[in-house]
Amino acid sequence: MSYAVKEIFLTLQGEGMQAGRRAVFLRFAGCNLWSGREEDRADAICRFCDTDFTGMDGENGGRYEARALADKVATLWGKSESPLVVITGGEPMLQLDGALIAALREHGFEIAVETNGTLPAPAGIDWICVSPKAGTEVVQRSGDELKLVWPQQDMDPAALLSWDFRHFLAQPMDCADAQGARAAAIELVMRDPRWRLSLQTHKVLGLA
Ligand code: SF4
Repeated sequence: MSYAVKEIFLTLQGEGMQAGRRAVFLRFAGCNLWSGREEDRADAICRFCDTDFTGMDGENGGRYEARALADKVATLWGKSESPLVVITGGEPMLQLDGALIAALREHGFEIAVETNGTLPAPAGIDWICVSPKAGTEVVQRSGDELKLVWPQQDMDPAALLSWDFRHFLAQPMDCADAQGARAAAIELVMRDPRWRLSLQTHKVLGLA
């Protein structure tokens, strides 16, 4: 199988419990909750996306076989110590499979994923971050961190706390009312200390 990749780049993880770590980001093309086209946004299941995941025209984007993709990720990492890849999208579970996981393992990579949770995660992933979207059926209800972009209409944060995650993060939505979103996320954490605030530090730092 070959993989449609939007972009691959070396950066710092900006969000969640792993914020601040050096990581190669592997962004797959495509998502099952939005086409990625602005004209479709109003009718999409997920309408607040802040990511360009369409096509294969980004940095190091293209179509890859498993071994070639793992080799590219390793080349971008460029070191032997503590290699970390964050596989994202789009929705990575549309494409991530055992062959790519095995190929990344051969290079010694710790494998993290960021998913909307509507598709099950394959075995062999070290760090699963699920970011649930209102109005979807989340099947991946276990993992390492649940990252709730907040506020979202028709989403009950209290219900999420029964899912099997080590960390529960509230992250202000990147939207026109950024100040209101920050206030709402802070209010959620202050109301229930099982939540922890997550900020998109890569945007503050001007990183990709
Ligand atoms: S699920 Fe994630 S990648 Fe897909 S449209 Fe929503 S925010 Fe974007």
